Amino acid sequence: MRPFSYSALPVRTVFGTGSRERLPEELRSLGLRRVLLIASARQLEAQPDLSELLAGHLAGSYTAAAMHTPLEVTEDAHRQLQALEADALVAIGGGSAIGLGKALALRSDLPLLALPTTYSGSEMTPILGERAGGVKTTRRDPRALPRVVLYDPQLTVSLPVALSVASGINALAHAVEALYAFDGNPVTSLLAEEAVRALGRGLPQVASAPGDLTAREAALYGAWLAGTALASVSMALQHKLAHVLGGSFDLPHAETHAALLPHTAAYNAPEAPEAMQRVAAALGALEEAPQALFALNVRLNAPRSLRELGMPRDGIGRAADLALQTPYPNPRPLEREALLELLERAWAGDPPR
Ligand code: NAD
Repeated sequence: MRPFSYSALPVRTVFGTGSRERLPEELRSLGLRRVLLIASARQLEAQPDLSELLAGHLAGSYTAAAMHTPLEVTEDAHRQLQALEADALVAIGGGSAIGLGKALALRSDLPLLALPTTYSGSEMTPILGERAGGVKTTRRDPRALPRVVLYDPQLTVSLPVALSVASGINALAHAVEALYAFDGNPVTSLLAEEAVRALGRGLPQVASAPGDLTAREAALYGAWLAGTALASVSMALQHKLAHVLGGSFDLPHAETHAALLPHTAAYNAPEAPEAMQRVAAALGALEEAPQALFALNVRLNAPRSLRELGMPRDGIGRAADLALQTPYPNPRPLEREALLELLERAWAGDPPR
């Protein structure tokens, strides 16, 4: 067996339908009384009981979180936070709301509680991506990690099918990269494999019956597992490209992951045969993993081309250069020509090679 190291991260996780109702109790058990709530106005309208749950605890709310955690939004929210006597942050939403919660937790040292409403998995990781000056950078800092995460599948029912599918494939991307991470270990691989299984089963059910709580539970369970795996290992080409494209071309995060995943899997497959076998087996596929991932995209009607997401074709060269700029571990060495070909295929929506 390959030597390994593994550190579990100290997030308290509560999973289950209705678990959002535990929020006041969780705050009380941490001795917290005055909360800055980070949530979109749409989210609060869709789930009015969330504000009621915080009645008596609310110091203020911030509803302008944005994709890729733009620095100017964080600075604006931080100014508002400083004017409040808050002792806790509660983020309810997708990766954008949770990302802002993490950025504020880092700047204020306040504890963060998260109630995810997508499958981004950000709530389980100490990773923070931030966008400034058209470039997205990521860092890991234990202070960004939420103290408590309440996973309530009911909060995901309002997530439209197209977003659910893209977000679910974002989770799948965490799991696929965890399976070939150079610093992976038996625990993260088990988590990732089970994540692929749960998402492969749950996402088609969500797509056909978005109000079905059993389907929502399976997908959210997969997202939790994938986020937990992501938290402990290094990500590679798939995440690098998604961040480059999101930061430089303002492409939507989850959809970009969806369009890229079959292609980065195909790129890395020759150097990661065991990981690819585990992905294909967990998906119950007869074909190779990259083809199975592409077929899943087709079945779910997930985004398959970067062109449809707004990527200009003449940006492909710049994206490849940016992806090569800072070296990072990847199963297969990064070669400019091969990256250009990968990006061309993903741009056009062709099947992976
Ligand atoms: P998002 O949070 O921007 O949400 C997408 C859209 O869906 C938004 O308009 C949001 O208001 C809406 N929405 C969210 N939940 C909803 C619900 N239940 N019902 C109706 N509408 C809902 O998108 P995302 O894909 O969840 O997150 C993307 C961001 O998260 C990116 O900035 C990405 O970098 C970050 N991210 C970070 C990590 C990490 O570990 N640091 C992991 C994954 C993603």
